[in-house]
Amino acid sequence: MKFPISEATPITYPGPVPTEADVVVIGAGVIGVCTALFLAQDGHKVALLEKGRIACEQSSRNWGWIRQQGRDPDELPITAEANRLWRELATQTNIDIGLVQGGVTYLAETTEEMETYANWLPHAKTHGVDSRLLSDAEIAQVFPGISRRFAGALHTPSDMRAEPWVTVPALAGIAARAGVAIVENCAVRCLDREAGRVSGVVTEAGVIKTTQVVLAAGAWSSLFLRNEGVSLPQLSVRATVAATHPLAHLSQGAAAAENVAFRPRSDGGYSLAAGGFHELFVGPDAFRALPKFLTQLKQDPFGTRFLPKAPKGFPDAWGTKRKWTGDAQSPFEDMRVLNPLPNKKKLTDLCRNFAALFPEMGDVTLQTAWAGMIDTMPDVVPVMDRVDALPGLTIGTGFSGHGFGIGPGAGKVLAGLVTGADVAHDLTRFRLSRFSDGSPMDIGPSV
Ligand SMILES: Cc1cc2nc3c(=O)[nH]c(=O)nc-3n(C[C@H](O)[C@H](O)[C@H](O)COP(=O)(O)OP(=O)(O)OC[C@H]3O[C@@H](n4cnc5c(N)ncnc54)[C@H](O)[C@@H]3O)c2cc1C
Repeated sequence: MKFPISEATPITYPGPVPTEADVVVIGAGVIGVCTALFLAQDGHKVALLEKGRIACEQSSRNWGWIRQQGRDPDELPITAEANRLWRELATQTNIDIGLVQGGVTYLAETTEEMETYANWLPHAKTHGVDSRLLSDAEIAQVFPGISRRFAGALHTPSDMRAEPWVTVPALAGIAARAGVAIVENCAVRCLDREAGRVSGVVTEAGVIKTTQVVLAAGAWSSLFLRNEGVSLPQLSVRATVAATHPLAHLSQGAAAAENVAFRPRSDGGYSLAAGGFHELFVGPDAFRALPKFLTQLKQDPFGTRFLPKAPKGFPDAWGTKRKWTGDAQSPFEDMRVLNPLPNKKKLTDLCRNFAALFPEMGDVTLQTAWAGMIDTMPDVVPVMDRVDALPGLTIGTGFSGHGFGIGPGAGKVLAGLVTGADVAHDLTRFRLSRFSDGSPMDIGPSV
């Protein structure tokens, strides 16, 4: 089986590109789709532009975990809203998105890890999340057949999962029915301005006049912003995922152990990944952003593997253009779908580790594998903010490996930022200025 969304996927939304809109949303991942959807439901005329296909990058490639567990406390209220919205949205799609409340579990090797989990629990309690610690015996009840012992686990029964490559196109379907003008295969090259504020976007298929733009461009956001004179210390890391053939049913839940994270899929297989492992292709942005990422590097010095250069056309490849204008092809058209190769060695390890954890499962073989570039911030929380220096521009990016689950909540927040509605959440932690106002990079108590 090939990965289901690629440049070869037929275009569902060919356009035409409208000539004007109340709001233009750049990027049709889960964040852009949800933002556009809520704006349209609120009566605004919205255009949603995607350089490749709906959900072709992170939003189809993720593990599908919709988790509250372990989150930054400032994200928890937004996640609670997201969970409510997930249930509502699942009833509005034309297709089963595989939304299941199966729980999420982090299996701990050491008592120190258990202490970290215990230290996070008060945040769960404050926000009404049902997380709790499990003993080794309780782990065996949640995952019958598990072959080894653990120091314990952190477990959240109310956490959910859904099938990413089905879900986000299905959400786009709701958005289209709500009146969003979606156009695939249409890159936004740059912004138009009048009197120092946004007056439109320049796409490869013409100009759209608008006074409000939401940038939800995932791993491409900092490249886009740099060309507009806005600095964002965002980097992307490669994360590899393996999808097994159908196997015996274990449990409805998703879990992460030290050397394998797993999640049952609706087709009977499991998506496997290496929780704490990711790879950074070093490029000019990595050097530029290094000072901001030092806190993260010190906290987890061995979590990232460094590779000397990104493949051609990647956002931080050495040869990628950093400056361009609206009348020439941009880096976004040069790479419609960011499709990194998975790390082959990791795939073998994942199968072996999963089979060792559940020996009764028998041979673990793969039907497919893929990788995604996770857009990450120095303090591992996103930016959801209006850009003071460029009125009319709102940013929703840098979800740092956990933007799928919070997606609908983040979409509501971003829609509110555009319209000036009361978003009912404290967004201080997600402000853009934290990278320029001398604030230390605060990684927070997320686990
Ligand atoms: C392997 C992996 C596992 C993950 N697991 C989880 C998980 O289990 N749970 C969870 O909550 N999160 C998870 N995540 C993170 C989650 O997938 C992301 O945080 C989320 O999908 C980000 O959504 P987005 O819309 O911001 O970005 P994306 O999905 O990357 O979408 C951005 C879109 O913008 C488009 N674009 C960029 N520039 C332009 C332009 N100039 N013009 C037009 N279009 C443009 C891109 O083509 C892309 O489609 C995981 C991520 C990966 C890669």
